[in-house]
Amino acid sequence: NQVPGIKLNNGTLMPQLGYGVWQVPDDEAERAVGTALEAGYRSVDTAAIYGNEKGTGKALANSGVPREELFVTTKLWNGPSQRWGRDEVLRAFDDSLDKLALDYVDLYLIHWPRPMRDDVLAIWKTFEEIAASGRAKAVGVSNFRPADLERLGEASALVPAVNQIELHPLFPQSELRAVNARLGITTEAWSPLGQGKELLTLPAVASVAARHGRSAAQVVLRWHLQSGHVVIPKSVTPARIRENLDVFGFELDAEDMAALDALGSGPSAHRIGPDPAVFD
Ligand code: NAD
Repeated sequence: NQVPGIKLNNGTLMPQLGYGVWQVPDDEAERAVGTALEAGYRSVDTAAIYGNEKGTGKALANSGVPREELFVTTKLWNGPSQRWGRDEVLRAFDDSLDKLALDYVDLYLIHWPRPMRDDVLAIWKTFEEIAASGRAKAVGVSNFRPADLERLGEASALVPAVNQIELHPLFPQSELRAVNARLGITTEAWSPLGQGKELLTLPAVASVAARHGRSAAQVVLRWHLQSGHVVIPKSVTPARIRENLDVFGFELDAEDMAALDALGSGPSAHRIGPDPAVFD
């Protein structure tokens, strides 16, 4: 397996490239995750709200890959407008482990900060307890802004291992990446391919791709890897699942990187997903 590991702040290694399963229905997840594991992926990113932890768990169990070679991430969905406390969090975590049929996950994330609710400190305290129990090897957050990260310090000295955020050449989040780096938090990119939409059709991307005889998706994934992000591209198409992993046999040069970096301040730059400041 040629995927490099990134060392998280708790000392564990996370594969720099993994497989994301958002929008994969539970009854397709077993086949899709199975295809990814067969292709050589060892890291899988799911979430309670994706509704496919069962199918994902079946694929993990049937893969024959030893548990210690897998890196499984799931996320807490502190569902609709309600203040979450310790009991709700522990129940949700147990439920995820049950569905995945695992006795631990490698990474457990708070899915959204929901700053309007004021329950993040109680949730983070409980995450610390889950980490101490060994049932999550690492704990972290997703969609946290600098202010949300700062608040966690009021609950505990534990620094999130990972902040999983929307990140791709059209939404490069330079400031947030710098804050993550300063705090020792690994940046993980969600929707790394810009959800396969406009980003993959841009002439700047096509020209870098043509220069390397690679696909648009492959050069965008190289941009992430060479920028130091963890990436979790999603596809249910076997050929694309394999293509997205086949990104370790070439390298972008400084000029290619600069061409892709420039997209972030160009006319097409935009966020695709919800804004964490208001998402509830
Ligand atoms: P993505 O950027 O990975 O794009 C996926 C889409 O791109 C596919 O559905 C397909 O249409 C296209 N695609 C994939 N491979 C391709 C290829 N080789 N060539 C051409 N087109 C290709 O989008 P995503 O699924 O939103 O993000 C990846 C993962 O990130 C998710 O599956 C999920 O695990 C995670 N995620 C997390 C959050 C969060 O809030 N934490 C939000 C969104 C996504």
